[in-house]
Amino acid sequence: MRIRLNAGHGAGKEHNRGGVLFNEGDNNFHYSLVLKAELETYENVKVDLVRNKITDNPSLAQRAKMGQGYDLYLAIHSNAASDSSVRGTEVWDSVERPNKQLAQLLCDTTAIFFNHRNRGVKYKEGKTGYNWYGELRFNQAKSSMIIENGFHTNREDSLIFRDKQKELAVVQARTIASFYNLKKKAIKEDKPHWAQKHYDSLKAKGMEIQETRFDDKITRGEVFALLDRITNYKEVK
Ligand SMILES: [Zn+2]
Repeated sequence: MRIRLNAGHGAGKEHNRGGVLFNEGDNNFHYSLVLKAELETYENVKVDLVRNKITDNPSLAQRAKMGQGYDLYLAIHSNAASDSSVRGTEVWDSVERPNKQLAQLLCDTTAIFFNHRNRGVKYKEGKTGYNWYGELRFNQAKSSMIIENGFHTNREDSLIFRDKQKELAVVQARTIASFYNLKKKAIKEDKPHWAQKHYDSLKAKGMEIQETRFDDKITRGEVFALLDRITNYKEVK
């Protein structure tokens, strides 16, 4: 499956958005990298970013276009309120292509992780039948939604969204994976190559070999050299 992560806003102070501990646009970008890496620990997932560099800041319409060809388009944000005590997670699901089940799962697991208020899944219409939010409007991804990971105007939410990114990514990636039935990639064992024992055996017999690129092709010249060495070879006792 293909996922597009859209880190909201752009880089620097211009995109602070009222953040008490970070500029929202910077923090969204950092988190998108962490979430991408975590999602890619699952099989058959390809994750692309809207912002490949922190300074990238495409328009909302351009961002929405980048959903084309994706199964899931997730816009990463944090929320703002004039009252700095307000905390909570909410998810804005697409009016045009709703996926309430996934939106609800993400909202629930994220609110539990932050240990704050679950503000629920919401829909906002502009023109009838169309999303009010530019990132979701005309977005052709099969599912698209915006997640507000706590309030950057609140200190506790900000501390978590800034300092617990890996842990949050594990929770959100696991939620997405369970919805799409994705399996965790097997961790590769350090098994020796099947040819290693033959290499070791030849070395033990005193054969002069240095080559250990076991899966590389052999050239005709190397075959001749090898045959010559074998036919001249006398086992050392
Ligand atoms: Zn935002």
